[in-house]
Amino acid sequence: MIIFNRIKTNLSLIFSKDLCKELPTIAKNIKKYREKLDISQDKLSKLADIAYNVIIKIESGATLNPTIETMAKIAKGLGVSIDDLMKYIMESEKNLVVKNTQNGKGVFAIKKFGKGEIIFEFHGKFFTYKELPTPYNGVEDHYVQLGENLYMGPSGGIDDYFNHSCSPNTGLKINSKKVFLIAVEKINEGDEITWDYSTTMDENDWEMDCECRSKNCRHRIRDFKYLPRDIQQRYLSLGIVPKYISRNF
Ligand SMILES: [Zn+2]
Repeated sequence: MIIFNRIKTNLSLIFSKDLCKELPTIAKNIKKYREKLDISQDKLSKLADIAYNVIIKIESGATLNPTIETMAKIAKGLGVSIDDLMKYIMESEKNLVVKNTQNGKGVFAIKKFGKGEIIFEFHGKFFTYKELPTPYNGVEDHYVQLGENLYMGPSGGIDDYFNHSCSPNTGLKINSKKVFLIAVEKINEGDEITWDYSTTMDENDWEMDCECRSKNCRHRIRDFKYLPRDIQQRYLSLGIVPKYISRNF
């Protein structure tokens, strides 16, 4: 089995080399830590309790979207924190820029991202429903619902400028209190980074007009439960609907 995997690795390495594909930073980070600790991929798979070919796929760039759970296991196997392993995300603002748009400010990519790549980690403070300011004005005041009774407030940083789109190119993935923006399609340099606010909304008492101008614009940003069925299904299959909502669908 191991021999088979090694052949596969070599093939995938040749494959990526042929395409001149740059390895994702997460792959480079794992390799960097492995080399520093002098741990083979085989040993890491045992330490992290992850299948050998999963490690191979991530390190070779064949898997661009490892789950947060997998990343946590790899971090544990390497004896580093998930934050250290994913440090590049904290530095990811280098890959993004805030610019003025027709509807105020927005965040734009200054490099390409592949589907499934982590684009950003949010850093705002958490609030319960009771702790929210009144009158509560939802995402217009940069508050995002992230749990049944959990909201993230503005960070004062780039976090506050990701706009909504009814045809988004990213989605939110939440793992306990870590919140990431993940590309749901290929993103080119210069593209605005957007996500569909409805994917995390189960607010019942708050909604807003939409001026995203996408051809699929729904004109009103409302709770996930009010989205058309096909859009709900698409977001659920992309894994960008948090559990407090997806468990009801
Ligand atoms: Zn819209």
